[in-house]
Amino acid sequence: MTLNRRFTLVARPDGLPKPSDFALVDEPVPELADGQFLVRNHYVSLDPAIRGWLDDAPSYLPPIELGDAVRVSTVGQVEASKAGSIKAGDWVMGLNKLEHYSVAAEGGFTYPIDANAVPSVTNYLSVMGAVGLTAFFGVNDVLKPKAGETFLISGAAGAVGSIAGQLGKLAGARVVGIAGGPEKCARLLNDYGFDAAVDYRGKTVDQLSAAIGEAAPNGVDMVFENVGGTVLDATLLHLNREARVGLCGLISEYNSEHYGTRNLWQLIVKSARIQGFLVSDYLHRFPEGGAAMAKLVAEGKLRFDEHIEEGIDNALPTFLKLFEGKNEGKLILKLV
Ligand code: NDP
Repeated sequence: MTLNRRFTLVARPDGLPKPSDFALVDEPVPELADGQFLVRNHYVSLDPAIRGWLDDAPSYLPPIELGDAVRVSTVGQVEASKAGSIKAGDWVMGLNKLEHYSVAAEGGFTYPIDANAVPSVTNYLSVMGAVGLTAFFGVNDVLKPKAGETFLISGAAGAVGSIAGQLGKLAGARVVGIAGGPEKCARLLNDYGFDAAVDYRGKTVDQLSAAIGEAAPNGVDMVFENVGGTVLDATLLHLNREARVGLCGLISEYNSEHYGTRNLWQLIVKSARIQGFLVSDYLHRFPEGGAAMAKLVAEGKLRFDEHIEEGIDNALPTFLKLFEGKNEGKLILKLV
């Protein structure tokens, strides 16, 4: 009998997730009902959002239940099918679980992909997936950069941030990135073509504010915020009049109490606006965003990096890299 190895949640993490919060279990692969198909998950997307789903707190998706495998996006191949439109051997992607085999239903959140349309199927978890679309809609719908404006991005060397910055450059903005450490800052300038880079590591709000002031001497017209905490606080001090802040993520606050942003008053005195957004708000526009990203990739106008680690046994240490700044590009776990 084939067994399904699953990475399950057994306790809700308090702070940074630890090994005792999870258990690897082997279970029989479930039987398929009519309309269902079995996916052999090849690649798993490890995203900061997973940290929120581990908590028992209201969010845009229900908390992962204790005892269940951790919810993740995957790319895989259909092993068996009782669904008319899906056949064994098809490549699919979707919201599944961190396990070797997932059962999906026709018409649900797992759908076929064209593996021949991309250099690697992993691209559907990076530039051609939610990461690329988050950057695309965050930049082009929420922020709408104009030529000559200054565009500041935090978490800039990461999966979403590095693409968002390049989209800002393509729109003609002057792009300034904030990232952790000199190597990542060098990558912003050399690999992703940013105009300036700021290292936030080890800096107080005042020190970071001074560094942002040097990198963006004319102030900031748009912010693509991925980090929150002291990074957002320092950034708010540099907003120009009627600046736009797109709130994509607050990764510095995912393993702790929320920081409590102190400089929100800057939004008032600069008549600025802040707007949170979810990539899933744009589900109905995914074909448009996907086509635009595919065109940019085909034209060689976007650089994207993928950081691939291996093995379900390695799931937690790999996931934690997101919070240690140790991922260089979209973090993906290879299962097959
Ligand atoms: P990344 O590839 O950017 O990886 C996370 C990075 O965050 C790390 O490499 C690290 O970079 C930085 N980081 C981690 N902890 C801290 C900290 N305490 N302070 C400052 N920086 C930190 O991940 P993603 O591109 O997948 O996600 C980036 C952001 O986008 C996240 O906030 C995520 O929640 C959000 N997101 C939002 C979506 C939406 O629909 N709104 C969809 C997808 C992602 P460094 O070394 O520079 O510190």
